[in-house]
Amino acid sequence: MKTIGLLGGMSWESTASYYKALNEGIKAKLGGLNSAKISLYSVNFDEVEQLQHQGKWADTAVILASAAKSVERAGADFLMICTNTMHKVVPEIEAQINIPILHIADATAQCLVQDGVSKVGLLGTQFTMEQDFYKGRLSDKFGIEVIVPDKCDRETIHHVIYDELCRGIIKADSKEQYLKIITHLHEQGAQAVILGCTEIALLVNQNSTCIPLYDTTDIHAKKGVELALQGL
Ligand code: GLU
Repeated sequence: MKTIGLLGGMSWESTASYYKALNEGIKAKLGGLNSAKISLYSVNFDEVEQLQHQGKWADTAVILASAAKSVERAGADFLMICTNTMHKVVPEIEAQINIPILHIADATAQCLVQDGVSKVGLLGTQFTMEQDFYKGRLSDKFGIEVIVPDKCDRETIHHVIYDELCRGIIKADSKEQYLKIITHLHEQGAQAVILGCTEIALLVNQNSTCIPLYDTTDIHAKKGVELALQGL
């Protein structure tokens, strides 16, 4: 079994979901007392979040590249960054390590393509919904059309992520707001909606709506298990 490298803590609420999903995935495949081999570096999210909101992405890249090097030195065979947003600095991290990165948008896009989804709604932080590093990858590399909520709804989604979900706060009215936004994206032609932030599944999941949801945490973790067991 390969050792899975994780860059976590963004937030630790969703890193806990990854840790559980990876171990459950290995157990489901191998049974018995088998569990995932993991090397995890969990950052202080307060530092990263401040830099994000100041637009100091180069500084976030320095923190994450240094963490990634530690994960590699600790024996990881490949790296998973446990947040959609911080995939923005994948090129800077990649340049500093010798192990491959299992990209969360690629993992998600492969599932969408397999299921014949060509137009999809995207929920995530404003960085993920508004900038090109994520949407562009889905459209340019996989030919998937991506639509996002309007400005006001994007602000709502963003604030719920940072002020509630990343702090472990789950509110019924936020869930209602998310479900309304998901329905609206569906009405605009989205065949499915990507939960493109690793905490969103703590708030809404497939039991809450008939509109197909693609939970990036779950998809990423499943691909991680596959890769860890490849060749066994
Ligand atoms: N975990 C989130 C994501 O998947 C948001 C936190 C962050 O900014 O990294 O984008």
